[in-house]
Amino acid sequence: MNAPDANTRFAPRHILGIEGLSPDQITSLLDAADGFVALNRRREKKGESLRGLTVINLFFETSTRTQTSFEMAAKRLGADVINMSVATSSIYKGESLIDTAMTLNAMRPDVLVVRHPHSGAVELLSQKVTCAVINCGDGSHEHPTQALLDALTIRRRKGTIAGLVVTICGDIAHSRVARSNIHLLTAMGARVRVVGPPTLIPAMIERMGVEVFHDMVAGLADADIVMMLRLQLERMHGTFVPSLRENFHFYGLDEDKLAAAKPDALIMHPGPINRGVEIDTSVADDIDRSVITEQVEMGVAVRMACLEAVTAHQEAASP
Ligand code: ASP
Repeated sequence: MNAPDANTRFAPRHILGIEGLSPDQITSLLDAADGFVALNRRREKKGESLRGLTVINLFFETSTRTQTSFEMAAKRLGADVINMSVATSSIYKGESLIDTAMTLNAMRPDVLVVRHPHSGAVELLSQKVTCAVINCGDGSHEHPTQALLDALTIRRRKGTIAGLVVTICGDIAHSRVARSNIHLLTAMGARVRVVGPPTLIPAMIERMGVEVFHDMVAGLADADIVMMLRLQLERMHGTFVPSLRENFHFYGLDEDKLAAAKPDALIMHPGPINRGVEIDTSVADDIDRSVITEQVEMGVAVRMACLEAVTAHQEAASP
């Protein structure tokens, strides 16, 4: 893969979502991330491009993979990193999101990496600060770096995204991962299907360019990629599935249902996985087809690319 030309590299002010990005802009981020995979596999992993810059991770929701990999990504590029989680912030003392953001902004960080339980909160915050903002999950709206790392995993394994049949299964209604992936995969020319019970598929989702299935085996027929999603219980108000057992029976991925997909179909999951709820252990740990840990590896590379992209914008914009 050729290194992207510095003049044509996508360098946005913020990265708030996949919606609205062009295939070229997505490809630019994926190409840059691809270049970091090799660096991350070396013993010496230090880059220089963020040296002297400060990144603040501001998490109002829990996170394992995203927060750790943003921290690792920023450090590998030479930045100083501060981690703030809701448990240690003044939100508990009644401070609003915007006041917290403006306070942190006053300390002149270069990038704020933000996760928040409310859809739209990260975009609102981005309008109030002078530093760059990267959305790492706002409610059930978008999780752009997850979709980019999924795309990088797919592209490296399959060589392309265009033309692939990608089936996303489970709690589509509450999933920011599903939304960002649908935007990205359809923009890049994949055929996207969503599978789940009617209670967990948003009305009129077909307008996003996907096919809807309520029968999992039908939705998996000849799929190249099977992307499983967790039930987002923390975002559900009311009962959406009769029971976890029944959910697994109809919509859990096991060997039998997977047999409908292509024999070389990849099994993906953004994590955290709930074994026996949406995915059976035997398929989650299938060393030939499950790429769940590879997704985590690609996450660091993608976040390095995103941090470089927004700080390149600042550099170009500074006098
Ligand atoms: N880690 C992903 C997210 O933050 C998926 C999930 O939590 O189910 O959206």
